[in-house]
Amino acid sequence: MVDEDDHEHDDEVLEQLLGGNEVHIDGLPSEHFSAVKSGQHPEVVSVCCSDSRVPQERMWGVEDPGTVFTPSNIGNQVWDDDGGERIVDGGVLYPIHHAGTEVAAIVGHTGCGAVTAAYDVATGADEPGPRGVDKWIDLLVPVVEEALESNLVDADADRETVINQLVEYNVDYQATFLRESEDVPEDVDVYGFVYDFQGIYGNEDGRTYLVNVNGETDPDVIADLIPDRYETATHSLLY
Ligand SMILES: [Zn+2]
Repeated sequence: MVDEDDHEHDDEVLEQLLGGNEVHIDGLPSEHFSAVKSGQHPEVVSVCCSDSRVPQERMWGVEDPGTVFTPSNIGNQVWDDDGGERIVDGGVLYPIHHAGTEVAAIVGHTGCGAVTAAYDVATGADEPGPRGVDKWIDLLVPVVEEALESNLVDADADRETVINQLVEYNVDYQATFLRESEDVPEDVDVYGFVYDFQGIYGNEDGRTYLVNVNGETDPDVIADLIPDRYETATHSLLY
């Protein structure tokens, strides 16, 4: 029996999902999964913001299954709160400890709503709610507060500029947290990126700007660490 008050589902979106999966199936080469049917060994764990404008595998041009382990949350946070203690989240640690992954990428993005909310809370606004959202915003607020106190961010700049600086600061912060955690082996490489679809870092929408390589954040130094043709793929908004 269907209750009269029952929420009617959105036929259109559901049909799009089913149809989209059909397209996915039709597009798969035969043997697509053959190398990974019985297990995975992803090269990288990519901690991304869940934002719908930030496509986790497509941004890396990845077609093959088993390549990228893709934990995501609001604000691309590598941690979780465990009874008041910050621990590295299982979505990040699982591939490192159980699937042989030795590279972690943290991917923020321009105009991040989670960072914006944390900035608003840090500067006196109410939490956005509900509680499940507030928990993750609250974890970002101290990062934002530290950033605003630092000399890396111009707290007096216009809102868009401050928020994009905070996005990058948060990527660096998350990267440092990972590198300093005892749960992350020393030989794991940690890279930080900011995905730009708003022309903030440069003119190439969809570019992941490399902002952190194992703690190195100077774009000139980073440029020397990567092939010449990617020289413009590193930049920083921080002072
Ligand atoms: Zn975001």
